[in-house]
Amino acid sequence: MKPRVRFAPSPTGQLHLGGARTALSNFLFTKSQGGSFLVRIEDTDLERSKTEHTDQICDSLKWLGLHWDEEMAYQSENGSSYEKGLDSLLESGKAYRCFASKEELDDIREGSDSFHYPGIWRDRQEKEIQREIDEGTPFTIRLRTPQTGNTEFNDLIYGSITVSNTEIDDFIIARSDGSPVYNFTNVIDDQAMGITHVIRGEDHVSNTSKQILIYEALGHDTPEFAHLPMILGEDKKRLSKRHGATGVDEYRRSGYQPGALLNYLALLGWNPGTEEEIFDLDELVNKFDLGKVQKKSAVFDHKKFNWVSSQHLMAQDSSDLLENVIEMDPRWGEDHDRSLRMIDLMKPRSNSLVDLIDRSGYLFGKPEEFNEAELAKVWKEDTPGIMKDLGTRLEPISDWASSKLESRFKEFMEETGLGFGRVMRPLRLALCGSLQGPSLFEIMELLGKDESLNRINYAISEF
Ligand code: GLU
Repeated sequence: MKPRVRFAPSPTGQLHLGGARTALSNFLFTKSQGGSFLVRIEDTDLERSKTEHTDQICDSLKWLGLHWDEEMAYQSENGSSYEKGLDSLLESGKAYRCFASKEELDDIREGSDSFHYPGIWRDRQEKEIQREIDEGTPFTIRLRTPQTGNTEFNDLIYGSITVSNTEIDDFIIARSDGSPVYNFTNVIDDQAMGITHVIRGEDHVSNTSKQILIYEALGHDTPEFAHLPMILGEDKKRLSKRHGATGVDEYRRSGYQPGALLNYLALLGWNPGTEEEIFDLDELVNKFDLGKVQKKSAVFDHKKFNWVSSQHLMAQDSSDLLENVIEMDPRWGEDHDRSLRMIDLMKPRSNSLVDLIDRSGYLFGKPEEFNEAELAKVWKEDTPGIMKDLGTRLEPISDWASSKLESRFKEFMEETGLGFGRVMRPLRLALCGSLQGPSLFEIMELLGKDESLNRINYAISEF
């Protein structure tokens, strides 16, 4: 049977890295076996669920290329199936109404760290229950859970997980306002959608044994389960806002490529067992093995992510990148050929498109700022003289091509006996405002003769 999996976000915020990693793991697992990837929006919490979050989650999934099959499901539209499920459990006696008041339960709770419902309404007489119903006493619905034995499942990542049934009380499956709880709606929908594998964050492990008891009470087969270890920040604490960007959209706006984010997320706690680590989505589908995901939490290492990202950037077609760059900074659209060449030069040395844009600002005008420390390092007393001399040598060149410039520079350095550090470094600073960057001859060609000479003259007069 081909797998059917789902990603089931609650639309209470944007898609964050943890969610994206869950969605990706589901996607890779099912697609490698020709199965289906479904999305279900768990929007039963009416107060916290927002359409704008649903939209943003969907946009981020699409941007990542994690396209779902079939129509998206919404829990808010499934109210009647939850009611049916609750009715059938009440009818079969697998669930029962509990009329205990809040005060009564608070009294029991008092003084104990963990609350274990003592089954107050588990074995009441039918007429007693009917009387409360007739009197309109509010009630919750609780699952009649087994009091002996164990609930066991084989997690595809963690292996066998066993919980003693004595640890599971008759938990609530519908609140006193009639609304069903997460564990219940989740089971009803997974069953209705024919989900074969539930792949989600490790924070749901404690729900799984309860959900298995619900499946059993309903008389349904349980799906397989896999819980993904948590993602931690570099300080080994659970990934949160404190660690910087955690939303997929923030990465998108910073000019990271979706393929890079997917690649890195797949590598969290998993490796292909070979040296190669850079993969596109299709390759990941072929290689990823859920069973080989480590049980240990994985640290989101920004340095490694930037490396993965730079590899993806390098492999991408410059004209595709240019389109994205123009969206972020329209000036790049003014001279296509020049922009394309700049992207060729910069893509092997950038982590993201924003990084590329930020470090190419000198293309569009004289550098605004010069790094004081770098200036002190390379702009010596005799530098203005050297630059002046250089300017005079460059002036007569009519074919301002990088190859011509390069040979003219070689001549200049040979004739004057000046080294690279005395000529090229101050020149780079004058032209680009920083000491790092691609081939200076290429940059000069892109800037053009007039602009290059102007910047040299400006530096001579200013520094
Ligand atoms: N709505 C739940 C969440 O966002 C889904 C958990 C699950 O996949 O079962 O955490």
